[in-house]
Amino acid sequence: MADLPLHPDTVAVHAGRSDLAALGVHAAPIDLSSTNPLPDILHGGDSYESMANGGHPLPEGGNVYARLWNPTVARFEEALAELEHAEAAVAFSSGMAATTAMILAHTTAVGKHHVVAVRPLYGGTDHLLDSGLLGAEVTFCDEDAVAAALRPDTGLIVLETPANPTLDLVDIAAVVEQAQGVPVVVDNTFATPLLQNPLDLGAAMSLHSATKYIGGHGDVIAGVIACTEETAQALRRVRAITGAVLHPLGAYLLHRGLATLPVRMQAQQANARALVAKLQDNPAVAEVFYPEVDDVRGIVGRQLRGGGAMIAIRLVGGYGAAEALTGAVRLFTHAVSLGEWTRSSSILRLSRTVRLQPRPVPGRTSSGCRSGWRTSTTSPRIWSGRSPRRHRSPRPSEAGSRTVARAEGRRVTMDQ
Ligand SMILES: *Cc1c(COP(=O)(O)O)cnc(C)c1O
Repeated sequence: MADLPLHPDTVAVHAGRSDLAALGVHAAPIDLSSTNPLPDILHGGDSYESMANGGHPLPEGGNVYARLWNPTVARFEEALAELEHAEAAVAFSSGMAATTAMILAHTTAVGKHHVVAVRPLYGGTDHLLDSGLLGAEVTFCDEDAVAAALRPDTGLIVLETPANPTLDLVDIAAVVEQAQGVPVVVDNTFATPLLQNPLDLGAAMSLHSATKYIGGHGDVIAGVIACTEETAQALRRVRAITGAVLHPLGAYLLHRGLATLPVRMQAQQANARALVAKLQDNPAVAEVFYPEVDDVRGIVGRQLRGGGAMIAIRLVGGYGAAEALTGAVRLFTHAVSLGEWTRSSSILRLSRTVRLQPRPVPGRTSSGCRSGWRTSTTSPRIWSGRSPRRHRSPRPSEAGSRTVARAEGRRVTMDQ
């Protein structure tokens, strides 16, 4: 489809399908083979070697084994890459598997030992980085402190915008400017490729929990990273070695779902905007968090092509009111996760958040944290989204709020 400049909505419908007519089919075929017949030892071995190093299968050697390559997964990857204006994409068994592979590929695999992470981040990502499990040292910092946090052995800068669950916005280009060539990954889950394309702003990678909007129907767990072909090779190598592959049935559903992503996003965003207006007028609601509200830096429009469909609210009645609300909803499912189109766009979750100064762990650094992390105990909130913007000082109603979750040393966000 490279010969025609197409609208993203059209790309979403057609990407990854250009060979279907020649195959004589209309729907994308699903290849469920776990293994593939080898033409002969030599060619099969060469193809294996190519894929084990992150490359493509060789035409004479075949796909060899589904941990190395699957054509149904490759179709979804091709489509997602096109939507993200990227050369390539690599799919994984979950968003966290994608994040794990990305960290390994940019640290251990290349002899670097340090990651800079801009907070706030999705709780699972924050936990993975903070756990030290992957062997990298992590400096958590504010988006303005990235340059100061860099070290000679920094292999990766991680950020998320809009952030889960806070909906905080980060200026991607401004972080890239501070990066001094260190690859920047943007968790683009909340925006989708239709509202934000981090690679166009200089980021090296755009990561999605495809479980959310891209899947859109609450029946697939998956992750995907859009990037250059060179980076894709490094990621595929880790995927082939560690085995966090996406099942082809999941890949088929994700590829199928891409076709409706534009109309889903339009409808969900329209619903969110209408809800924001209603909630802002509701006396029981103390505050509404949505990217288009209080966007003081003008990031919506410049970087993000719309507010998306996640909303967070803080209730006047605090935690008790939030708990009562989650127990009283009818159409909404009270559950974690987001981005669904069906029952739905209406997942409601109660988030109990306490922000504390990350405790320095031997062998890891937690410098450059904004002062807001030190003591600000935010009130319990109902989320479909976010915590208070960090540049906002606590309102009097927050000051005496009850602390419902505590942890030593790091922020606890009891939601997904
Ligand atoms: C859910 C989520 C993830 C993790 O993805 P899984 O598919 O659940 O592993 C990562 N980032 C964000 C922003 C998410 O919402």
